[in-house]
Amino acid sequence: MITLKKALELPKEELAELKKDLAAKAAEHKELNAYIALDESGEGVPIAIKDNIQVDGWEVTCASKILQGYYAPYDATVIKKLKSAGFAPFGRTNMDEFAMGSTTETSCYGKTLNPKDPSRVPGGSSGGSAAAVAAGIAIAALGSDTGGSIRQPAAFCGIVGMKPTYGRVSRFGLAAYGSSLDQIGPMTKNVEDAVILYNAIAGYDPKDSTSAQVAFTPVEPNPERKLRIGVVPNFIKDASAAIQKAYDKAIEALKNAGHEIVEVTLMDAKYDIASYYITAMAEASTNLSRYDGVRYGRRAQADNLKEMYRKTRSEGFGEEVKRRILLGTFVLSSGYYDAYYIKAQRARHLIKDEYSKVFEEVDLILSPVAPNVAYKFGELASPMEMYLSDAYTIGVNLAGLPAISLPVDEYEGLPIGLQLIGKAFDEQTLFDGAMSLERATRS
Ligand code: GLN
Repeated sequence: MITLKKALELPKEELAELKKDLAAKAAEHKELNAYIALDESGEGVPIAIKDNIQVDGWEVTCASKILQGYYAPYDATVIKKLKSAGFAPFGRTNMDEFAMGSTTETSCYGKTLNPKDPSRVPGGSSGGSAAAVAAGIAIAALGSDTGGSIRQPAAFCGIVGMKPTYGRVSRFGLAAYGSSLDQIGPMTKNVEDAVILYNAIAGYDPKDSTSAQVAFTPVEPNPERKLRIGVVPNFIKDASAAIQKAYDKAIEALKNAGHEIVEVTLMDAKYDIASYYITAMAEASTNLSRYDGVRYGRRAQADNLKEMYRKTRSEGFGEEVKRRILLGTFVLSSGYYDAYYIKAQRARHLIKDEYSKVFEEVDLILSPVAPNVAYKFGELASPMEMYLSDAYTIGVNLAGLPAISLPVDEYEGLPIGLQLIGKAFDEQTLFDGAMSLERATRS
């Protein structure tokens, strides 16, 4: 598959050919269910877009029945930026409903399969984007990451997935899940392509009140830079043997590449999980209150307003989304607000402070992305088990940091991804380290 860098240099006719080829290949791989719909009409290098990002004129559903029939009336800022940088949105990729999940199984369009082994999950929630890139039916894609939804599917499918610093990329036009956690980011074949896409979408946006007014200089990756990289022995003990082995191998590779390895400690990830799921569900419950049958998409037939609200939401939302709205409403209720929501925010501060301390000593942190390789469909028995599997990714969102997941190894033919975590707004160093790690581990 052609890289983004090469695709940007193609003359118009060849680009049109490339699009045709991609569409034909996507049709051949229909069983993967990576795309919800394709649109070859745009001019530019085709980029697959997660179905929670507004593209003017496209149906945008967040893979939820409740939004079916809703057409975006404008472009998200990232789409505007892509279009002006020579890219064209190419298709809507499948995802967990409203980005809630880790497997892409909660989509109203049915699950996406992992191209490396169709009996296994592609990860989630940006599983459609990851599967499309891994299967060679997209050159690159956009995903969104609230608690790992770019990085974990990237790791499960063997591609690169990057979550920018919170506030670095505009959320204008991204359907909100957890507004204080969500970030859009690139999903690509390699680190160089991730840099290209990141540079195209990053920067301050007055249309997003949480967009950071921090000067943005396009990243020019320098894999020769020698860095201090923190490793977290206490953190990785809960990962599978295969992941631990890959972790040790990556450390050796980084040492051989001339980086200094420093052992650091991060607090038990059980606090990340508790803090994240309370925060994300609380924010989701308020964000999703707007889907009431009046303003967007689907409306149920009913005799009065209250019944219309109730029927629309009962029929429109899936089980996982309902569970989260209920739990989120509960933790925000006046009797429990202090006990859950406020406590979760306190924990979040501690987690952020801890990262800041660690980053006084190191430039980057190396961490697993998931405790295991991609698992089989149905292997995780309960929603709780699935929440626990997010242990390695969600701290990064709570602390608002940038991180990149890249494939470094394989276990029985299944990809293993590890992530580098950087300081807020230091994407330059993150990409420097990522490119070095990619070179050191890909032979
Ligand atoms: N798996 C996590 C969740 O379900 C993260 C999802 C995401 O990043 N959108 O909330």
